[in-house]
Amino acid sequence: MNQEPVFARQGPAPEACRPGQAPFSDLDRLGNIAVECRKCRLSELRNRVVFGEGDPHARLFVIGEAPGADEDAQGRPFVGRSGQLLDRILLSVGFERRDVYIGNIIKCRPPGNRNPQSDEIECCKPWLMEQLDIVKPKMLLLLGRVAANTMLGNTMSMGAMRGRIIRWREFDCVVTYHPAALLRNPNWKRPCWEDMQMLRAHYDRIGREGGNEEHDE
Ligand code: URA
Repeated sequence: MNQEPVFARQGPAPEACRPGQAPFSDLDRLGNIAVECRKCRLSELRNRVVFGEGDPHARLFVIGEAPGADEDAQGRPFVGRSGQLLDRILLSVGFERRDVYIGNIIKCRPPGNRNPQSDEIECCKPWLMEQLDIVKPKMLLLLGRVAANTMLGNTMSMGAMRGRIIRWREFDCVVTYHPAALLRNPNWKRPCWEDMQMLRAHYDRIGREGGNEEHDE
């Protein structure tokens, strides 16, 4: 993706202002701008912007829907019950949380955990696109239908999207059930586990082959 940065404003302090500390990364700069975002109504209700966290060079970028109450309180993605399940799902195929990058479609909590509205998604999506541009993952794990439909630009059902590798732009994407849905319906844990096995096998394969360019659809 060679698009111009959507948010051109300079980050806050230059590295020289942080003696003895790690220099600001591009993600830090973007995050420092994002926490001030007032582009949509959700900013009036939030406690914290949940920008995202993880390995800034991760080959796998995990994308959820929107922060819930725990995430809104802590400013970190997937730290509540869904997050604990996500950690277990990732670990089941050998990923520690620090091995991947985790973000959401929407950076602020929708009231009562309702689905994000389309204008909120439109306002917020550029932050995620910039995160993808900086992290440059090879693979995306799209959790739930809202994340998958938003990223892939379709209206397909979960059943039509999961169970296969979907090429979107330069990314190989795996769609699976959102952990919150698995908490409500444990019967979906098995297909989710199969999706994760497939993801891991593909992740290892393109790692060995040195890229995913040859998998273009
Ligand atoms: N659900 C999400 O989609 N994202 C979070 O960060 C937490 C719960």
